[in-house]
Amino acid sequence: MAEVNSIAVIGAGTMGCGIALTAATNGIKALQIDVVQAQLDRAKAYHEKTLARNVQKERMTQAEADEAASRISYHAEMGKAGGANWVVEAATENADLKKKIFKQMVDVFGNDVVLATNTSSISITEIASSVGANAPRVIGMHFFNPVPLMKLVEVIKGLATSDETTQRTIALAKQMGKTPVPANDRAGFVSNRVLMPMINEAFYAWMEGVAEPEHIDEIMKLGCNFPMGPLRLADFIGLDVCHDIMMVLYRELGDQKYFPCPKLRQLVTAGRLGDKTGRGVYDYSKK
Ligand code: NAD
Repeated sequence: MAEVNSIAVIGAGTMGCGIALTAATNGIKALQIDVVQAQLDRAKAYHEKTLARNVQKERMTQAEADEAASRISYHAEMGKAGGANWVVEAATENADLKKKIFKQMVDVFGNDVVLATNTSSISITEIASSVGANAPRVIGMHFFNPVPLMKLVEVIKGLATSDETTQRTIALAKQMGKTPVPANDRAGFVSNRVLMPMINEAFYAWMEGVAEPEHIDEIMKLGCNFPMGPLRLADFIGLDVCHDIMMVLYRELGDQKYFPCPKLRQLVTAGRLGDKTGRGVYDYSKK
């Protein structure tokens, strides 16, 4: 199976910039695309800072860091990335937006390019429905945050995804140093079907005064051996992303238990989205 040598990454947010960096440090050219110039600037700054830290910690040489940086380019228009031989969409978690982007992807990229989505919860079959006969090329390639460190890629076939697309996705995940694991196309797949209701429940525990956020996190860390507590993790993921995923679970699975906790909704409404805005459950503005 031919190795992938250039990946277009649609979206330069938390996940997109991690996917681009992981590709680049594994010898693959990454074309980072976003409609918001400030997000492209932020991604570039993140790449520079992370590579510099890797050199400082002796995880790579300066020459390797320079080579990785030179493999990443930044573009405000998808059309500029048409030569890539793989595309991963990592834009905002919204089904209509993703369907619009996938339609555009079909026009921009070649007929043999796999059209992968990093969605956390939206049905792959639904996204694929926007591209008609191209549906066999659509697949879920679900990376985890922070992408350079997290080993897992959940690989999700839609109803029409071909075996060839699946095999190529598994091969690319390995080429990027990841461990691909299959999951079926049900809302939230495995990871978020299990994780997000737990995070939502932690917000209820906070809202109902069961314990303060630090204590909820400490109890779950020490009692369940989690590396970080659920509320800290929610800030890290992005409270808006958690909210959107709960809404997908709620709509798709039709059970009230998946409805986002009022406390989570309140913080999202206030624009307290977690690490990315400097404040969420916790205040990071002084760090
Ligand atoms: P984010 O909000 O940090 O970034 C989304 C980016 O998409 C923004 O930079 C936005 O400008 C860009 N965007 C919006 N419309 C676009 C368009 N038409 N073309 C190009 N770019 C566009 O979100 P994120 O946390 O990086 O999440 C991205 C995707 O990855 C979502 O589907 C999310 O569910 C999924 N995901 C997130 C996490 C996580 O921990 N945050 C983990 C796994 C998967």
